[in-house]
Amino acid sequence: MSEKTANGSRARILTGDTPTGQLHLGHWVGSLENRVALQDQYECFFLIANMHAFTTRADKPDEIRRSTIDIIKDWIACGIDPEKSTFVLQTEIPGIAELSWYLAMLLPFNRVMRNPTLKSELDAKGLGDNYSFGFPMYSVGQCADILLFRPELVPVGEDQLAHIEPCREVARRFNQMYCGVDSHTEDEDYVSAGGLFPIPEGKVGRVARLIGTDGKHKMSKSLNNAIFLTDTFKQIKKKMGGLYTGRVAMDEPGDIHNALFDYVRAFIRDDERIKELEEAYSKGDNIGDGHVKVEVAEHIDKLLEPMRERRVPYEGKEGDKKVLELLRAHTEQANNAAEETLYLAKQAMKLDFGKRSLVFA
Ligand code: ATP
Ligand code: MG
Repeated sequence: MSEKTANGSRARILTGDTPTGQLHLGHWVGSLENRVALQDQYECFFLIANMHAFTTRADKPDEIRRSTIDIIKDWIACGIDPEKSTFVLQTEIPGIAELSWYLAMLLPFNRVMRNPTLKSELDAKGLGDNYSFGFPMYSVGQCADILLFRPELVPVGEDQLAHIEPCREVARRFNQMYCGVDSHTEDEDYVSAGGLFPIPEGKVGRVARLIGTDGKHKMSKSLNNAIFLTDTFKQIKKKMGGLYTGRVAMDEPGDIHNALFDYVRAFIRDDERIKELEEAYSKGDNIGDGHVKVEVAEHIDKLLEPMRERRVPYEGKEGDKKVLELLRAHTEQANNAAEETLYLAKQAMKLDFGKRSLVFA
């Protein structure tokens, strides 16, 4: 994957989070860590999917607004630099909703419904058959979120790869149907062959799917099994303490593939120490779960320490105000990039009846 496009400009990244709560360690290892590492090489767009938050929480507008602001604070705390990257507030980028319509025409209904992540989200969130029409629509909307910014790379957790696949399919289809690209073209050659959209690639983080402190489901902000980036050492220790391993005695051989050891490998960044712990634990060498849990908690706390410091200028109501100001400035930048793509897409579709400009006050 090149960090430059064919015309020499910086390749782009787009990814984002839904404001359905605060960010947690799963976000860090699955996506945020990559965002921070790549923000210098790539032109980055980070999206707050606040429209999509309404697919499951239409009755909670206050909470959605609150977590929109909190997530921006989380991003900055993680080391995402607002001077280098552009924040995209989904509801203020009208091009997203517009492109969603056009892309919806290129995606078969059954294809959308076959998405395994959509199915497992319905299960995990207990939505059964009782979900809104908007819920599966978000899968189409996500294709528009991504393609409107024409990124090469989309850093995500493993669960989101199934959402990127329809996006890649629809990008190929659009390029073939409206830009005359041959269907045998290799993915990386679509733009040089005259296509509008690069075929974006998902980039999964260091840990593809961090398990939650319930030891069962993916760590998720809506499943009450998360260690948040804002948690104190006391909270981290308590949550780690509750992690179920199924082991009863410390002289009993432990399974190093249990949830606790997923945390050991994810957060103790010292290969020798990991090996030592794995050996002792698998032999039942007088090493209790409690000890390992505290050690992991200490490492997590060390990871979060600089984040706490970066968060200080954004605390409280004054911090909220700063975030809203940032969002305003970034919305203009984001709309400039989005409107450019949308115009080109409409031109390809013979819908270029005039140029418009958006005013955001
Ligand atoms: P929700 O419960 O509302 O779906 P979530 O915790 O799954 O929230 P999202 O906003 O859906 O969070 O995900 C944002 C990004 O973080 C996605 O790229 C997703 O794949 C990644 N991610 C979320 N949870 C994890 C996890 N436990 N491990 C690895 N990556 C994760
Ligand atoms: Mg999710």
